[in-house]
Amino acid sequence: MTQPLNILFLSSEVVPFAKTGGLADVSFALPQAIKELGHEIRVMMPKYGFISERKFGIHEIVRLREIDIPVGDKLQRGSAKASFIVGQKVKVQVYFLENEFYYNRDGLYVDSKTKKDYSDNDERFIFFCKGVLESLKKLGWRPDIIHCNDWQTALVPVYLKTLYKNEPFFNGVKTVLTIHNIGYQGIFGKESFYKSGLPDEIFREIEHNGNFNFLKAGILYSDVITTVSPTYAKEIISDDELGAGLSATLKKRRKDVYGILNGVDYSVWSPENDKYIPVPYSIQTIETKYENKKALLKHFGLEYNEEIPVVAQISRLAEQKGFDLIAEVIDEMMKLDIQYIVLGTGDPKYEEMLEKIKRKYPKKVGVHIGFSEELAHLIEAGADIFLMPSRYEPCGLNQMYSLRYGTVPVVRKTGGLADTVEEFNSKTGRGTGFLFEKYSGQDLLKALKKALSTYKIRKVWLKLMKNGMTKDFSWTTSAKKYVELYQKLMTPQKKARTVKAK
Ligand code: ADP
Repeated sequence: MTQPLNILFLSSEVVPFAKTGGLADVSFALPQAIKELGHEIRVMMPKYGFISERKFGIHEIVRLREIDIPVGDKLQRGSAKASFIVGQKVKVQVYFLENEFYYNRDGLYVDSKTKKDYSDNDERFIFFCKGVLESLKKLGWRPDIIHCNDWQTALVPVYLKTLYKNEPFFNGVKTVLTIHNIGYQGIFGKESFYKSGLPDEIFREIEHNGNFNFLKAGILYSDVITTVSPTYAKEIISDDELGAGLSATLKKRRKDVYGILNGVDYSVWSPENDKYIPVPYSIQTIETKYENKKALLKHFGLEYNEEIPVVAQISRLAEQKGFDLIAEVIDEMMKLDIQYIVLGTGDPKYEEMLEKIKRKYPKKVGVHIGFSEELAHLIEAGADIFLMPSRYEPCGLNQMYSLRYGTVPVVRKTGGLADTVEEFNSKTGRGTGFLFEKYSGQDLLKALKKALSTYKIRKVWLKLMKNGMTKDFSWTTSAKKYVELYQKLMTPQKKARTVKAK
């Protein structure tokens, strides 16, 4: 191995401390995989009020007891504490930035009562980005690479190249910004820019439609930009709709943009050692999957019938995930010989829609509105088909989990779904699932019907399940790609182009 690197990994959510989506899974697994490759990696996140110090053994660090951060014209005092992500093979140090006022709430970004974003999310993450840099100085630990994730941490590269550019401590520190979903950019009014304390002269360069856009600023100032699948990387550069208005910005940085597929933590997501499912199974004991199907249907009060496939979804209920298509074709779907199970929470519009579907088809549909890790595992183990009709999908994790559980994915051919699911060909016996290209309800139905007709031929279906179960999307492959990228950044002659403030 070449020289071990010091890496600081920044994320606004990390399993098991806080999670709203895939970013938390990535922030748990990727640092461990990088550490297993022999590098020193530490994680830093906000300490939300609901994170229990006692449960996670979070302790004080004397040097980080008082961290004063200017936000607008206020001076906010924070502190940082520490604990670990405890994995199977390694332990990764995690720092938590604490501030009563900003983080002692029951949500991460959204007020659970009003279901609206906290009105001071700009300040909360300005505080975080500055707090990270101040903590490092106090700690005296200088990373070679700061790996930022999403808009919440995207101002770190901007601070490093402006307010902190003359600080010897940060000399030579390189930054990576990973975009997990370009639909979320952290867009605030111009007044937020003043709160950030960034120099006035960069506003013209980083503004977007007159607003302060955290992600755009990060894209312009980080040394490299990555996103979570190769196809999504191409899509967000070439298609302004998929790039959510930032494709022109990404084009400017095109040669510094990389797509690295997320992985799966198979210590958590494997049917042979899944602590949440009633009967573990593997490719050799595939028939016992049906004991889990029985348990799943029992959980939802639905009848078990071997002939009828269970079609499932586990998803944030957001427009991105394709619930408009479900609304469009649900009555036609219900004419098919299927049972339909959904676990999700999010937009009240879709929560109501699903409850309504359940009321209309009580014998065929099971809906659980809420977030349940345990039920998510039971669904992966018990369902026959996993549906992801996403409008766009940066990577998607559930289709990869489904493959490992022998639950055949039916997905829209976009982003990471296109990179991880291969169309099944019954003649050659190759492929792992069924895809449709156009964002249309009828095309979804066509793909689903293809799956259903394959399901009827037991031998062929078994082959299809096994194809998926033998796919390997382990984190080690992705971690090696990130490390290669870090090393490239550290090599002077191959130094990535950096964009300077004009
Ligand atoms: P995204 O990050 O866009 O939400 P991903 O597929 O990348 O989508 O990751 C979603 C993660 O969140 C998966 O681990 C999935 O199992 C989990 N998840 C989503 N909704 C729920 C829910 N209601 N209950 C439990 N887990 C959920």
